[in-house]
Amino acid sequence: MSAGRSSQDLWEEAQRHLVGGVNSPVRAYRAVGGTPPFIAEAEGAVMRSVDGTSYVDFVGSFGPLVLGHSHPAVVEAVREAAARGTSFAAPHEGEVELARMVKELVPVIEKIRFVNSGTEATQSAIRLARGCTGRDLVLKFEGCYHGHVDALLVEAGSGLATFGIASSAGIPAATARDTIVLPLDDDEALEPAFRRHGPKLAAAIIEPLPANNGLLVQRPEYLRLLRRLCTEHGALLIFDEVLSGFRVPGVTVGAQLGIEPDLVTLGKVIGGGLPVGAYGGPAELMDRLSPLGPVYQAGTLSGNPLAVAGGLATLRAVKADDGWQRMEDLGSLLERGLGPVLDASGHPYRLVRCGSIFWLAYGDSEPPRRADRFHPNTAEVFGLLHRALLERGYMLAPSAFEVGFLSLAHDEHTLTGFAGAVGEALAEIPAP
Ligand SMILES: *Cc1c(COP(=O)(O)O)cnc(C)c1O
Repeated sequence: MSAGRSSQDLWEEAQRHLVGGVNSPVRAYRAVGGTPPFIAEAEGAVMRSVDGTSYVDFVGSFGPLVLGHSHPAVVEAVREAAARGTSFAAPHEGEVELARMVKELVPVIEKIRFVNSGTEATQSAIRLARGCTGRDLVLKFEGCYHGHVDALLVEAGSGLATFGIASSAGIPAATARDTIVLPLDDDEALEPAFRRHGPKLAAAIIEPLPANNGLLVQRPEYLRLLRRLCTEHGALLIFDEVLSGFRVPGVTVGAQLGIEPDLVTLGKVIGGGLPVGAYGGPAELMDRLSPLGPVYQAGTLSGNPLAVAGGLATLRAVKADDGWQRMEDLGSLLERGLGPVLDASGHPYRLVRCGSIFWLAYGDSEPPRRADRFHPNTAEVFGLLHRALLERGYMLAPSAFEVGFLSLAHDEHTLTGFAGAVGEALAEIPAP
């Protein structure tokens, strides 16, 4: 390697130019401490820093990279697309093919609209739901993340008023008041909320597999109850599968559980590492969008040829490789390797896994199903674990509440090595 600039050196300069040194807050490593490694290149399951250190990567760009980094088919498809033109802002074949492919894999979608991020997808789906129902209120769940949409950056208010309060500065109180927030996994809270707000409720939005604040696997009966209440009260049910889509057996959690949302939002995997989001559902709803209907939504770069090529190449490669089954097999392998290591560690860690998504739950009780049940030491212990794993060449996301991702580039060797490294790392940390 040439003697380039070190992570430390770049980090110091980054903080002079970029807010907090980053373009998305969690990357600043505030939750785990230390300097984030600057990445020079990545291939397969491995990322290499500018310091020349290699890491087996379980971040996967926070979800998109089901094939691992720089998969040859994706790189080639993007290269070819770029050579034909980086953006047309006009119809092209790639977007039609990606639409057909996503529909084939996600049958609740009859019509789809591509956007540039998961945030745009959920924001647009909410607007469409409001436009279709003529109602304003939105129901969301504590601990679910739907991107940085004003109406969804809202947390539960206190007391009887279930209306939300903004969880970020800069969100109008009036916007927060149009959002109702309920705890996850609480049947008792659902019925009264619908009784009270049902007639004004445009939509309920939920990650059917909440995976942005730990991996909070929901009871299927709970999601079915939500489905039934939405139907009874004429509110649309939006499944936000930006993260879970294409990472679970059955492709989406909705299909896996046999629960049909009215609208589904996608992102991450369908761009193969390029900026894409999408939302879709029955034609009857989607056709309310402009240019056919009154709900406006547009995008200069939407359906971008490079992004669409990256997504298509990714989905094709996963499909050709029986990828969803293989990821499930890799997941079982991780469970068999890491499970016993955690059990023997003396630390109250358990592995929670769905498809190629995993999380290390901390605490003696059953893995939590809702966001307010975390052990108070979760973040502190994870900070130590994260650092000890980095030292051993394994990279987890820099927060106790972010999940890990497997890709088809991981194999028995990387997973066995990871389990061993976790065992060593936990042995260094004083057990409670
Ligand atoms: C990542 C994510 C989003 C936001 O997607 P961006 O592309 O980061 O805007 C929305 N919903 C869920 C469930 C996500 O995991």
